[in-house]
Amino acid sequence: MSTGLGPASLASLVNCGFCWAVPGTPCTDIGQHYARYLRAYRRGLLDAAGLATVSAAAVYITAGTIVPDAQPITYVRW
Ligand SMILES: [Zn+2]
Repeated sequence: MSTGLGPASLASLVNCGFCWAVPGTPCTDIGQHYARYLRAYRRGLLDAAGLATVSAAAVYITAGTIVPDAQPITYVRW
């Protein structure tokens, strides 16, 4: 059931539960909030493997963690 889209693209299909960016609008210039990935996962857009990949981007991750669109690079925590 792969759509061929990366996790960041899938996350951008839903509202962000942290900053309420609307679908198609990025949370920040560098990436999306982790909360957005969780929402995409709950909606069934992002599979468990995709979420695991995203989660691995940071040692300590919260809903407000910015997950960079291009991984792996450094991340920013709020
Ligand atoms: Zn956000």
